[in-house]
Amino acid sequence: MKKYKVVNIIFDLGNTLVFFDHSYFSNGIAEREKKLSTAAFKKYIVKNKLDIKLMSGRMNHREFFRKLKKKFDLRIGYNDFIYFYSDVFWENPNMKRLLEKISRIRKYRLFLLSNTDSPHMTFIDKNFPYVRLLKNRVLSYKVHMYKPQKKIFRYLLEKYKMAPDTTVLIDDLKDNVKAASSLGMHAIHYVNHRKFMSEFSKVLKIR
Ligand SMILES: [Mg+2]
Repeated sequence: MKKYKVVNIIFDLGNTLVFFDHSYFSNGIAEREKKLSTAAFKKYIVKNKLDIKLMSGRMNHREFFRKLKKKFDLRIGYNDFIYFYSDVFWENPNMKRLLEKISRIRKYRLFLLSNTDSPHMTFIDKNFPYVRLLKNRVLSYKVHMYKPQKKIFRYLLEKYKMAPDTTVLIDDLKDNVKAASSLGMHAIHYVNHRKFMSEFSKVLKIR
């Protein structure tokens, strides 16, 4: 029997370490802009792939703001706009507890692999200090790649000299789990904490 042991743990951010709902963004803007249709606002962002452009670092937030301001005739200023854009997260207390616990155990190397952008990451680090425990990070907007592209997983493995069979990914999106598995990594689909913990404890016990 093949012997291996998981020593690298990669965490996803959104809906894994913290929960989020992007509706808070459009709802926040709509509180200020009474004529705004939140449905049209969301649709415009997705249709023009503005979300993808932001997280892959191909568009900056000034440009994002200018486009939406023009399209929807917004009066809101840039700083308030970015605040509403960023304030869409809340804590996952179970993951907070787990991450704080694991980070005290020295035998694991911990990583953050996230499709995110600069305002979101700044907001997260400021408001959810436990995420700052993850110092080794591969962030989509910095590397111009994103999950589930296999190249971002390969990039992470190479950058930190990790063997896939000693690595586990925890992620709420099935496609990301599939991509990691196809590269030989252990991957756990984070659906709910109880189910996750039963799989996670099995994986960590693998010898
Ligand atoms: Mg996620």
